[in-house]
Amino acid sequence: MRVLAMLDGTLADPDGLHIRVDDLGLTRGDGIFETILVVDGKPRELGPHLDRLERSARMLELPTPDRAAFERCAQVVIDAWTGPDEMALKIVYTRGPEFGDGTPTGYAMGVPIAEKVLRNRVAGVRAITLDRGFEPSIVASTPWLLLGAKSLSYAVNMAALRWAESHDAEEAIFVATDGSILEGPTSNVVVADGRTLRTPPPALGILRGTTQGALFRAAERAGWATKVEPLRLADLTSADGVFLASSVRKITRVRMVDGRPLPEAAELHAELSALYESEYA
Ligand code: PLP
Repeated sequence: MRVLAMLDGTLADPDGLHIRVDDLGLTRGDGIFETILVVDGKPRELGPHLDRLERSARMLELPTPDRAAFERCAQVVIDAWTGPDEMALKIVYTRGPEFGDGTPTGYAMGVPIAEKVLRNRVAGVRAITLDRGFEPSIVASTPWLLLGAKSLSYAVNMAALRWAESHDAEEAIFVATDGSILEGPTSNVVVADGRTLRTPPPALGILRGTTQGALFRAAERAGWATKVEPLRLADLTSADGVFLASSVRKITRVRMVDGRPLPEAAELHAELSALYESEYA
């Protein structure tokens, strides 16, 4: 089951041909995207996702995405969806065809949540840390590296996940050269200690997570303390629980880091998951 709508709001055949072969999103990964979780027809964190799309567009110097058009296009997909209760809604915005009139390409596509992701939500994951190859101090002075933009150039992120999978893990956690914990290839890292949740700051060149944001909002309402601050590997191995947060994985438990078992944290996981879900009750 897949549903595709182009940015002008027209439904299109997801097996059809809609992207020109010279589209810069295709030939250079020159574009941006978001993946939004839709549950029972309701998109989660749509506003923060579109805010982040705009932020990414600014970083890539793309024309400002037409927010109303993306909202309409997302709704067309949601309205046409007849698949499972949960859908991953991917919105894509590229610089458009290289030999075109400069019009960006935009579309939204709904797909089911991958089986692997659903399994990991329940079973938790083993993660390995992987060197991301930059020091956080360069982030502000190297805007061309697009650190913290959700660009279509995710080949490195996908390679990191394949590397993890070939090394007895389901997930990777990127680490900067100074030892700062960054993020997963498609997730944010959240650490729980007592009644405090912590996550690394976007200023390190990572994405501002919409799921992490929702969890922190709910946790604060329930009396937890939340901190956005640098973390190191020792903070992961000494924590009461380590989690990967993303739209499709929700709050997934990390059971092992670099082969070292972490606390089971099943109850903590249940509590944090309930907090996250309470945002949408
Ligand atoms: N970090 C990266 C690199 C991502 O690609 C993603 C999502 O895919 C996230 C973090 C988590 O973001 P969100 O919770 O908004 O899905």
